[in-house]
Amino acid sequence: MVQEQIRDRGIRCPRVLDAMLRVPRHEFVPEDLIDGAYADQPLPIGEGQTISQPFMVGAMTEALELEGEERVLEVGTGSGYQAALLALLAREVHSVESIAGLATAAQERLARLGCSNVHVHTGDGTLGWAEAAPYDAIVVTAAAPRIPPPLVEQLAEGGRLVIPVGPATEQELLLVRKNCGQTTSEALHYCRFVPLLGRHGWQSPHS
Ligand code: SAH
Repeated sequence: MVQEQIRDRGIRCPRVLDAMLRVPRHEFVPEDLIDGAYADQPLPIGEGQTISQPFMVGAMTEALELEGEERVLEVGTGSGYQAALLALLAREVHSVESIAGLATAAQERLARLGCSNVHVHTGDGTLGWAEAAPYDAIVVTAAAPRIPPPLVEQLAEGGRLVIPVGPATEQELLLVRKNCGQTTSEALHYCRFVPLLGRHGWQSPHS
């Protein structure tokens, strides 16, 4: 998976490639889908949600430019797979999931795999997680109609925010940087994620 889907498609950061080799993706998918755990596609994880395609996880993670000392916020814990990668690449990870059942399952899974620097919270991640702000990097793993203002507020000076923005059918993965209080934004890839539902997200799955 890492060679064909990640490295050969242009993700070159050695720390990201190493982390993707180390995290057992099959631990994060439902048992009946284990055969497809390393396939080039997203997979259902229950509650109508998905674990993202490996390439997309790699691209988002690389864009965060993590060196090891950062505090990171993830919005959309889902299975916990992306959080497990972030745990290897940063000092402290806070991950917010709105569906309580997924949050609990991910928390248990991450604890079992020894990811002791990940803190899973249940709530509306479009509000960020103010208690632990500011964050050096923020990654949103669900599609937003626009960039939620609390996430920009909770981003540290020099921080990076990676977020898919756009309508339900297709989004652009944006890399937003905050420097001197100002943000600049760069489009990285086209992508398709499940909707970000919440106060600063979509109001319902079809709106
Ligand atoms: N990062 C995950 C994939 C997540 S799929 C993984 O590695 O498996 C997107 C997740 O975002 C879903 O679990 C969905 O429930 C969650 N989500 C949607 N809106 C949210 C919100 N406002 N706050 C937190 N989580 C949200």
